[in-house]
Amino acid sequence: MKVYIETFGCQMNVADSERAASGLRRAGYELTDSADTADVVLLNTCSVRERAERKVYTRIGELRAETVDRHKPFIGVMGCVAQLEGASIFRSSSDVDMIVGTRATDRIPVMIERLQKGERGLIDLNERAENEIWDVSPVERHSPHVAFVPIIEGCNKFCSFCIVPYSRGREKSRTADELVAEVKRLKEFGYKEVHLIGQNVNSYRPKTTRGLDQVSGATPFSRLLRAIAETGMPRIKFTTSFPRDFHPDIVSAIEEYPNLCDWVHLPVQSGSDRILKAMRRGYTSLDYRRQVERIKTANRRLALTSDIIVGFPGETEKDFEETLQLVKDCEFDSLYIFKYSKRAGTPAASLNDCVPEPIKTERFLRLERAQRDKQDRIFQGYVGRTLTVLAEKPSTRSAADLVGHSSCHKVVNFPGDSALEGQILDVTITAAKTNSLYGQRAEVVH
Ligand code: SAM
Repeated sequence: MKVYIETFGCQMNVADSERAASGLRRAGYELTDSADTADVVLLNTCSVRERAERKVYTRIGELRAETVDRHKPFIGVMGCVAQLEGASIFRSSSDVDMIVGTRATDRIPVMIERLQKGERGLIDLNERAENEIWDVSPVERHSPHVAFVPIIEGCNKFCSFCIVPYSRGREKSRTADELVAEVKRLKEFGYKEVHLIGQNVNSYRPKTTRGLDQVSGATPFSRLLRAIAETGMPRIKFTTSFPRDFHPDIVSAIEEYPNLCDWVHLPVQSGSDRILKAMRRGYTSLDYRRQVERIKTANRRLALTSDIIVGFPGETEKDFEETLQLVKDCEFDSLYIFKYSKRAGTPAASLNDCVPEPIKTERFLRLERAQRDKQDRIFQGYVGRTLTVLAEKPSTRSAADLVGHSSCHKVVNFPGDSALEGQILDVTITAAKTNSLYGQRAEVVH
């Protein structure tokens, strides 16, 4: 049987799809890259904002239309929408045959077997089994050069706007010895970069210190960073960091190890203490500015990126102006701006002091403009400088170019052919675009 997996949402979903694909192939299924030829279509879904959640139903409708003239594939909904909505998905769409929660990835092969035997309406929202290991085959990874390595699943933070604690359960960290072994294996396979991923990577807290005993550090996460850096993996990035748990020792670890990349993603969400309190973030604007100060005074320049929500219930013009000021002061290398989206079941959903949609849009655009001014200046500052770039794949814009990321996580396009893919190159920046840089290869450095 051929299985097609389509992934929406964050890196965690990408990693879950890779894990699901590995398990399916081990169980004898073939993976295909198109729904047209598939016997089973799995939609790995995101529910962080309402628009993302609606996508799954649009996609199911499209699949129904596309497969009308042929044998209908089984359709499975997996990921965050599956976990949150459970059996109600069957009521919303009669085309869905099975629902796979966020911790049921490894049981998909058994569920498909049951579908083949004629069972319908299958649903698994249970926890992962105790003995399950995170085992992803290199063939299923989204890139042959960059690998996602989940270090922690779930979230304990319960920010009032956020659905993640409900869709992904409580924080559960993998042990450091398992992670170090995985990164060593990836290095042997030729991977040049790993991204340590999780909703809040710096809340990493494994049950045992196995794998951390030989490394020092103020927190389990900063120790893990040092242990992973010691593997010699050429480039290590990590995302997302949670401000309340951002210990300055993380910056010290980056300063010590050149293979810990020059980038921190630290979502602030708002610059207003009143709104941060209503969001239950557990820090103030000043606390955040102190973290930023440490990042900005590191012994090499670290890129800083962030997330902001505009239009949280009760956000006044004054609150918004505080956010605007924080964005101007922090000089983010890039910023993801979201309009607040009400998520059923979260504490903020019961707040009815709604910001009207036109005001949300206006604030979104003002913030975007302020960020654009800062970002243009930061990006222009790279012109004439040489960055180390991992050549990842051909550019979609020009057949003569390759695209990759710098150590500071900028998208960089430059002339080059496929023979260079997978190499870390020196690229001298010649032009700054809105969200990317363009350059010329200086020399091969590795
Ligand atoms: N765990 C990280 C944190 O809390 O800092 C980020 C997790 S979330 C998957 C990614 C981003 O989506 C958040 O940083 C936030 O800006 C945005 N987001 C989450 N819930 C939202 C909501 N209800 N409405 C709008 N944006 C939201």
